[in-house]
Amino acid sequence: MFISFEGIEGSGKSTQIKIISESLQKKGHDVISVREPGGTEVGEKIRKIFLQETTENFDPLTEVLLLYASRKQLDNEIIKPNLKKGSIVIADRFFHATKAYQCYGKGVELNLVEYLHKTLNISEPDLSIYIDINPELSRKRISNRKADRIEQESLDFFSRVQHGYLQLEKESKNFILVDGSKSIEKISGEIDSLIKELLNV
Ligand code: ADP
Repeated sequence: MFISFEGIEGSGKSTQIKIISESLQKKGHDVISVREPGGTEVGEKIRKIFLQETTENFDPLTEVLLLYASRKQLDNEIIKPNLKKGSIVIADRFFHATKAYQCYGKGVELNLVEYLHKTLNISEPDLSIYIDINPELSRKRISNRKADRIEQESLDFFSRVQHGYLQLEKESKNFILVDGSKSIEKISGEIDSLIKELLNV
């Protein structure tokens, strides 16, 4: 089973992935967590290029192509083989993030991302859990982090990304919104129920 977690920075993805992974492992499941861009040797090199500041304008299409180069490698090396073995793969962001950030946030055509995903024959999550918070709460939560290139974007940009995720919720299947302003325990309880339902246990 393949689950992706979606949301803007500070929404609580890492916190929730850690809780659910430990709980699934305790129940005897083999769980693999991956992050994007990255997660493979080639992907981690792409991550550096992606997140480092540049003096020139980073074209959003260059971002999409870098993300897809990393995603293809991750799918080949980690996601597909582990799904085949019966493991649960959990991704900290996947293709909905490209739509929210590069399409809704930066104007890239949604069709291009859909075309790339399909043509490259990349796995699709069985469930995507979107943890919704607003950009102001995001700022507060990540105020102690050293911001990378994406985290340095404006509040306006993150509002477009949040709006994008909310649009995706309306039109995507297996895409579930949870309210990220609730307590960590409340959210993890909701996620636990969602995954139980999916695993049929
Ligand atoms: P992400 O991986 O989405 O960037 P994190 O899981 O790293 O987010 O969370 C960012 C910060 O917010 C961390 O300090 C974390 O402890 C805190 N946090 C996460 N979820 C909640 C929550 N529901 N309520 C309050 N604080 C939270």
